[in-house]
Amino acid sequence: MNHTIELRKVSKYYAGESGVSMGFARLDLALDMGEFVAITGESGSGKSTLLNVISGLDTYDEGEMFVCGEDTTAFQTEEYERYRKTYIGNIFQDFNLVNSYTVYQNIELVMLMCGKKASECGERINELIELVGLTEYSKTKASKLSGGQKQRVAIARALAKDAPVIVADEPTGNLDSESARVVMETLSRVSKDRLVVIVTHNYEQAEPFVTRKLTMHDGRIIEDKRIVQPEETEVTVQPEAEDMRKGSEIRLGLRNTFNLPAKLILLFIVYLFVSTAVLSQYASAKNSQHSQDVLGYNQYFTDTSAERILVTKPDRTAMTEEDIAKVASIDNIGSIVRNDLAIDQQISLQLSDYYIDATVYPSSQLKKSQLTYGRLPEADNEIVIYSSSTAWDYDYLKGLEDKIINQTGCIGYQDDSNILMLKDKLVVVGIILDDSSDGLSISGASRLYMTETESDKLKTRQMAYLCKTTVDYNGSKIIHEGGLCVLPSASVPKGKAYISEDLAMNYQGDKVVDKPLAITVTNSYFADKLDLKVGKVFEKKNVASVLGISKESYDSYTGIVFVNDAEYNNMFNKGIFQISAYMEDETAFRQTTKALEEAGFKAFLLKDSLTDFTGGFSFVITLLQYASLIIEFIVLFFIAYAVIRLIMKSRNSYYSTLRILGANKKNTDSVLRIELLLVMFLAYAVDMSFVIMLRKGIISLASLRSKLNFLSALDYVILLVVLMAMSLLIARRYSRKIFTKSAMNSYRGEV
Ligand code: ADP
Ligand code: MG
Repeated sequence: MNHTIELRKVSKYYAGESGVSMGFARLDLALDMGEFVAITGESGSGKSTLLNVISGLDTYDEGEMFVCGEDTTAFQTEEYERYRKTYIGNIFQDFNLVNSYTVYQNIELVMLMCGKKASECGERINELIELVGLTEYSKTKASKLSGGQKQRVAIARALAKDAPVIVADEPTGNLDSESARVVMETLSRVSKDRLVVIVTHNYEQAEPFVTRKLTMHDGRIIEDKRIVQPEETEVTVQPEAEDMRKGSEIRLGLRNTFNLPAKLILLFIVYLFVSTAVLSQYASAKNSQHSQDVLGYNQYFTDTSAERILVTKPDRTAMTEEDIAKVASIDNIGSIVRNDLAIDQQISLQLSDYYIDATVYPSSQLKKSQLTYGRLPEADNEIVIYSSSTAWDYDYLKGLEDKIINQTGCIGYQDDSNILMLKDKLVVVGIILDDSSDGLSISGASRLYMTETESDKLKTRQMAYLCKTTVDYNGSKIIHEGGLCVLPSASVPKGKAYISEDLAMNYQGDKVVDKPLAITVTNSYFADKLDLKVGKVFEKKNVASVLGISKESYDSYTGIVFVNDAEYNNMFNKGIFQISAYMEDETAFRQTTKALEEAGFKAFLLKDSLTDFTGGFSFVITLLQYASLIIEFIVLFFIAYAVIRLIMKSRNSYYSTLRILGANKKNTDSVLRIELLLVMFLAYAVDMSFVIMLRKGIISLASLRSKLNFLSALDYVILLVVLMAMSLLIARRYSRKIFTKSAMNSYRGEV
């Protein structure tokens, strides 16, 4: 017949510094269901060692031990875990209850660990609480109970998993005699259909209840006295205890997060610090990434400042006045330049002795406070020159302010020594010399500010300058990729073209007048064609009479086809196809381009057109930036780990209790993980609400807000993932620490 527990010549030795000492030696013992066994003997006789071996908390060195017929000789750690969980209910001298849990929760804990559902165990738990006589304390926290009550909770807990064996080492050691009597009486009651083994040095307390007495001396059983013979019962191998459910792990994780407020607050503060530090480090990295982004050059755009957004219609049609008004009304759009072409087309300002390379802006963008000399333009022919310290003409302009102010000049396209005039009789009324180059991207051209109407008038010519223009001289085609080859003149009648002498050579034969001449223009927004007949051929001697242009400037007009000004206007002035919108806060570019796109426009950030100066090595800089960010995260991780470990020290006893009750590494891992993740989510949520309030303007901290502008939704997800990874790693490291100690050591260490 199988015994519940059977030891055959089992020995246990301890290897210590002073050599090997004996726990007990060559013990033969058989214990059966229905027995209530008390092990007694003087201190050091091996009682605890024997009990620990029986309960699987300690291994043995020699002999064989059988439990319900199962051989335990070859058991490894995991098998001992299963063994303890399936067969053994433990009662400890120091109770080992979870103090922050109620009586009910303490018992529930064991049932959850054995794979029960929380909703299924209520009835059984209440039964057990009644059995140990604590019904009215069901909702009382364990910390509020007397010792005797605690031990009765421990008995109920030991019974909760339906293990066939209950072991207890000095269960009444910390109790007064009346409490001890109640505990003994309770144990006796539960031993009717179980095997109960206790260690006691106070045998008188146990005597009235026990069925068998074992007396030990020097690691041997010197007396085995049966007081009551147990009934013979068939012993069967127990069904294996199930593993803990995921739901139960979450339940415990949640409970542990909130049932110790002080610990929750401390952990929360640490996580808030970590989350905020990670967020701000990440935002700084993005910030410097941005500063690097806005440096560079582009050969098509002169103004590549970070504030500038090029706005077009997605179908590339012309923009209406309503469209422009709509763009202007969008949040963070400070000003709009309607003649966008002027910003990127370099022209030359010719003064009596100087000429300056510049691009044209509307004076509405200027503030009076920016002026270094003079005043803002009032009349249409008045201009202000702006030169930043990075402009080519800056040094040259500096010191000449007195001479330049009030000078009259003209603007035009510079071509070798000639200038193709755009507008003349302009007066310089103000000068801005800007020493702070930080507001502008690096561009060599100065700026001319003139009234919006004046600037607007230039746009037909500037469009013509950009077009690809093909002139077909009756079969011989000349293609001009940009630049001016067609000009308007009121002197030319409709349907006619006046061509310069040199162009007449494109026709075979002498007769040029009335020969067909076709002009085709294309650009990225439209295409057009004009069919004409040659009206006149002009040369130096007749240019004044034919076109009203002075003889001296004839050289500027060689290679030019003059057409009727109304027809010219029809061909090139088809509306405004692109405008430039300037942001007030460049760092909010993401939100602003999004708003523009939502309003039905295409938005192109000029900073994105830049080629960086490092010649392709910017990725190295970026790489270094991210590498240092990762190092910062790692340092942060270790700081957080050290602090969290300190905080969780108070939880060590909780986790070793779990371990002693039979939780495996995976279970404690999950419970801990949930606990840490939850607090992390809380801290992250607080940070995110702060971010949202900043963004919505509920909290106004401009400097912080602009830093956050560089973060997109994806970045916040990345941050969350980083924080989650940190929490999981912390949980793993910590639970490894708990588990490097064996069950026995952590039990001894904590109890
Ligand atoms: P009891 O519980 O009867 O007082 P123990 O089982 O605790 O006795 O101890 C039995 C013997 O084993 C003693 O000689 C004790 O010194 C030794 N012993 C117990 N635990 C250890 C240990 N962890 N390391 C070394 N020796 C131990
Ligand atoms: Mg002992």
